[in-house]
Parts: sequence; structure tokens; C-alpha cells
Amino acid sequence: MYSNNFKQLNLSAGVRQILWLLLIFWLLSIGGGFLLRGFVFILGLIIVAPVIGFFGLQWWLRSNVVQSECPVCQHEFTGLKNQTLDCPSCGESLQVNDKKFQRIAQDGVIDIDAVEVNASVVE
Ligand SMILES: [Zn+2]
Repeated sequence: MYSNNFKQLNLSAGVRQILWLLLIFWLLSIGGGFLLRGFVFILGLIIVAPVIGFFGLQWWLRSNVVQSECPVCQHEFTGLKNQTLDCPSCGESLQVNDKKFQRIAQDGVIDIDAVEVNASVVE
């Protein structure tokens, strides 16, 4: 009884193997070229995509990253084009315009340069 069951199990496993082989041969005969072309395409994509990504990223960085100095404290740092950012050194709010950082002045705030005047010259 037990051996009979085992034989049946073996047979069904063999049948399953044959069916798998038939399925593979059928796929290869029908779409073998298609499968091969798809495989080569995916392989090419895996190789080419990182190269394109690398050069694309370099191009993007070159056209969008701005390195300049803070107009307030002259600390040199990098920022992204068309963005507002804070100077890491003095905390001044800055905007990137024409590859240079410009101070974002609030309404009513006027930029002035302090000039040291010697007291003896005035008298
Ligand atoms: Zn600064």
C-alpha cells in the first residue's frame, strides 16, 4: 500500500518534470528570440543606466550648484540655484541670483556700510 502511494508520487513528480520541460521548450520555440532580445535589452539597460545616471548627475550638478561667498560675512559655501538658504557661518538668509548669493532684505531694511570716523578729524 505504502509503496504503491510512493510510486504514484514518483510518477506525478516525473510528469511534472516533463511538463516543465515541455513548457520551457514551447516558450523557447515560440518566443525564444523575443526572450533573448528582452534579456539582452535588460542586460544593456543594467550596464548603461548607471553610466547615463552618472553623467546626468554631473551635468545637473554643474548647472545647478552655485559656489559663492556670503555678502555679509564672506564665508564661502555652496548652494542650489533658485533657492533660499541660510549662511552656515552667520545665519543670514540668502537667495541665489546669477551664481551669487544675495541677502534677502526685509521691507524697510536698508543695507549700509559702517565707516569708522576718527574723532580728531571731526573736531
Ligand atoms: Zn554669512
